[in-house]
Amino acid sequence: MGFPVEKDPRLLVDVDALDGEGWSFHDQLPEASVTALLGLHGPTDVKALAPLVASLTLHKIPQGVRLDGTAQVTVAAPCARCLAPAPAEINLKIGLTLFPGAGPVRAAGDPSPPPAPASRKAKKRRPPRAAVEDLVGPVDEDVETGSYQGGVVDVAEILREHVLLELPMALHCRPGCRGLCPSCGADLNQGPCSCPPSPTDPRLAALAHITLD
Ligand SMILES: [Zn+2]
Ligand SMILES: [Zn+2]
Repeated sequence: MGFPVEKDPRLLVDVDALDGEGWSFHDQLPEASVTALLGLHGPTDVKALAPLVASLTLHKIPQGVRLDGTAQVTVAAPCARCLAPAPAEINLKIGLTLFPGAGPVRAAGDPSPPPAPASRKAKKRRPPRAAVEDLVGPVDEDVETGSYQGGVVDVAEILREHVLLELPMALHCRPGCRGLCPSCGADLNQGPCSCPPSPTDPRLAALAHITLD
């Protein structure tokens, strides 16, 4: 899907190479790279409208690493009513404790599926609390945790997931967007269409466009 994208190597952090200073990134990612990053795991309608500005630090902690910082980007995603690009300003505040994972190595023929694309549900996906508490003691309910694989923290991937998770569920291109006519699909923001008023259930309206040969 899409074209191959090289992730920005500055955002791949080798944990073993971290010194006491840790890692930091105070820079921008060009909008084309951000759009490519957002679509990395499959087609997406989300595009960056401006460079992503990030200020991030990563430090070793006894059981793993800690990623902190902020990132801002303005993206466009389809309006929930008319599908026109609707801008959304995303402001991320990241405070993430990451534990070393088992690694990406999988035996040949392992039937387990590849990692699912990030979904809004992913926000709730965390290591079992008991397992985390075994490592670090009682965990604050609000602490966000995750894992990294192969000794490398993929900060680009973390940014990708967080931007998509922060997108509002129902984005609108303008206040009071009138949406599309359920019968003819006309953009009602451009003016009324010529469809007669009808009590058609909008869920069935799509069927009106089906023609059988
Ligand atoms: Zn709209
Ligand atoms: Zn219409």
